[in-house]
Amino acid sequence: TEEKPAQETEHKGEEAEEEEEEEELTFEQLGLDPRLIRALNKKDISITKPTPIQRVAIPLILEGKDVVARAKTGSGKTLAYLLPLVQKLFAISGSNRKLAPSAFILVPSGELCQQVHKEFSSLIDSCKVQLKAVQLTTKMPDPDLRTALAGLPDIVVSTPACVAKCLSAGVLQSSSINDSLEILVLDEADLLLSFGYENDLKALTAFLPRRCQCLLMSATSSADVDKLKKLILHNPYILTLPEVE
Ligand code: ADP
Ligand code: MG
Repeated sequence: TEEKPAQETEHKGEEAEEEEEEEELTFEQLGLDPRLIRALNKKDISITKPTPIQRVAIPLILEGKDVVARAKTGSGKTLAYLLPLVQKLFAISGSNRKLAPSAFILVPSGELCQQVHKEFSSLIDSCKVQLKAVQLTTKMPDPDLRTALAGLPDIVVSTPACVAKCLSAGVLQSSSINDSLEILVLDEADLLLSFGYENDLKALTAFLPRRCQCLLMSATSSADVDKLKKLILHNPYILTLPEVE
């Protein structure tokens, strides 16, 4: 199997000049599809300039790297993974499209699940592309989970507990995860283990194909984030942004 380069990208603001240049980078220069940039401009609060974590994370994610992104709450981590993820799915959709989801976004709570699903749906609606996202939560009875998956979503936003439940109830097949999953995101990773999701995550990672790109987003660095990193990622790029931006 192919090894990824062991590179740690520390981003501490030491190189002032380089920093200033990056300040100028637009979404276009990061390699984002014009459809996505137009969609951002259409939002209620028009989003025109990438945040620091978006500037460093988006190009690496588009390249297919595993990434750990640590940046404080409110720094724009959701779009930092949603934008490149949607762009990658533009490429997968069409003839290569699989019958099982291409991407899983796992978050620590049903409430967050709803938030991320909403952000994703509004983005694809304004892009007018044929991608579909569903949210799966433990509150949904099995038949509802089955119906949601029968609609052939490209993206599933869920919690580790719900995915583990779907796997054990046979609502979701481990073989389809192994065949189709291209991208796995763990959002709010610093909370996933403290919320007791370790075994649920293991139920999923047992079937992760080697090619699957894994992204881990967190507000803090902790022993738990390190543990997750070892469990799921292969030689990731580590992006750490300072507490004060
Ligand atoms: P985090 O996950 O890092 O806590 P969020 O992704 O929830 O942060 O983003 C926080 C807020 O910033 C959201 O309201 C989001 O719409 C907004 N936001 C994200 N990216 C940008 C940007 N490039 N320009 C302006 N606002 C942004
Ligand atoms: Mg977040």
